[in-house]
Amino acid sequence: MLMIESQEIADALPHHKQKLVLVFSAMRHFAEELRGAGFTLDYRKTAGFAEGVREHLEATGATTLEVIDPTDWGVREVLEEAAGVSGAKLQVHENELWLTSEGEFNAWADGKKALRLEYFYRDMRKRFGWLMSEGKPVGGTWNYDADNRQTPEAGHLFPGMRRFPPDALTGEVIAEVAARWPGHFGSLEGFAWPVTREQALGALDDFLEHRLKMFGPFEDAMVEGEAVLYHSLLSIPLNLGLLHPLEVCERALAHAAVPEHDVPIHSIEGFLRQILGWREFIRHIYRRTMPALRDANGLEHTSPLPEAYWGAPTRMRCLSEAVRQLTETGHTHHIQRLMVLGNFALVAGVDPRELNDWFLTCYVDALDWVVTPNVMGMSQYADLGSFTSKPYAASGKYVDRMSDHCRGCAYDPKRTVGPGACPLNSLYWTFIDRHRHRFESNPRMAVIVRGWIKRDPAVRSDILAHGASVLDALRSGSL
Ligand SMILES: Cc1cc2nc3c(=O)[nH]c(=O)nc-3n(C[C@H](O)[C@H](O)[C@H](O)COP(=O)(O)OP(=O)(O)OC[C@H]3O[C@@H](n4cnc5c(N)ncnc54)[C@H](O)[C@@H]3O)c2cc1C
Repeated sequence: MLMIESQEIADALPHHKQKLVLVFSAMRHFAEELRGAGFTLDYRKTAGFAEGVREHLEATGATTLEVIDPTDWGVREVLEEAAGVSGAKLQVHENELWLTSEGEFNAWADGKKALRLEYFYRDMRKRFGWLMSEGKPVGGTWNYDADNRQTPEAGHLFPGMRRFPPDALTGEVIAEVAARWPGHFGSLEGFAWPVTREQALGALDDFLEHRLKMFGPFEDAMVEGEAVLYHSLLSIPLNLGLLHPLEVCERALAHAAVPEHDVPIHSIEGFLRQILGWREFIRHIYRRTMPALRDANGLEHTSPLPEAYWGAPTRMRCLSEAVRQLTETGHTHHIQRLMVLGNFALVAGVDPRELNDWFLTCYVDALDWVVTPNVMGMSQYADLGSFTSKPYAASGKYVDRMSDHCRGCAYDPKRTVGPGACPLNSLYWTFIDRHRHRFESNPRMAVIVRGWIKRDPAVRSDILAHGASVLDALRSGSL
């Protein structure tokens, strides 16, 4: 067995320090397990994968390098070339860390005019027979999104999450990362992510026992000081391969099937939709649209990423809270990613490629296959909707409805212009105005564009002037 810690990857971006600890610690724990199980393991720390492969092949004289198909684009070619230099062949095995194969998705997608999650997900529900009864969805409907947009009462007690304090091996990695990459993003304090298979199973149990029941209703909510709410935090062990999506879905379905657990249909359906639906769908979209997706910039946005994303002070509470949490843990939940960090960059016209690198850098669960479609496609509409029907752009009213951030914020979500007006409001209308010619032919955006154009020209010009002053304040770091 060969495992390679590539320094090149760690150096390529100023990755969150906890992400480096997570990946290196999980690798070293896995190496110990392999050795304990009797495997002969060659564990190398090299400048890059190519050097690691070459050195291994030279040391062992092996003529074939066997790998499972890497999900990230371009890795297979790097390995092929590295093996070739030493006169070895690359043998690629199907990647079995997924619920659906390439062939299955291609058969579903080929010939379709538009690829939409909803229809893929429904067909996968039928194929797996999950939450199905006589060919129909259990509960009579496929989608419970409307039930899953609630916000908790003030003072609601959330269960929190199980933490996995560092053992000696993780402690060594923490010291190494602190010494070697001191300038990288984020804090190392309080590292508590699962790094072994046993801990990953503990994280799954913790979610099933304490959070699955309420996963649905508050799925889109944001609460000040609450990082987890009822989310699973399972992207971390899933993306590392410490959990298989099949066991996650089967365990969740089995847990929900026990009447005493009292899991409502909208919670188990909402969770299944994420793993069987979104996670698989996103991976296939990536596979089919790379490398064009990485360079897409259909809306021609070119502004630099605001310094606030790297922790510079801002009076926008939703933004500063998300960045604070990210700095401390390397994680925020989906709605903070999509509707705060992504949305603000979108309406402020930030270059999507810079934002993509930022997401890749700052999150502990970030890998190219999952970040690039979520950022370039879902969040920034840089692909002009290859798998979404409209941009996820929203004003401050959305953040006010779904969170309690606005209460403690210097800005007022009810105001669009004038002192104290929420920057998201004028930026939202600036965004709509800038792209009105494109959006008026989009059935889901046309009403918004028509409403905007019908407004009094003086009101429109006030809003656009305020939007311009917000962008000035953003550039000068005084927002
Ligand atoms: C701009 C943006 C950036 C994102 N970056 C990442 C990333 O770096 N890594 C990552 O794993 N996910 C990413 N996502 C998807 C999603 O936000 C995270 O998977 C989720 O927040 C992880 O937290 P959780 O495990 O508590 O998720 P939960 O809310 O508990 O959801 C359960 C699981 O469903 C899967 N899932 C849900 N939504 C998606 C999605 N859109 N794409 C793929 N899988 C999904 C994840 O595996 C997740 O663990 C991103 C989404 C957006 C909009």
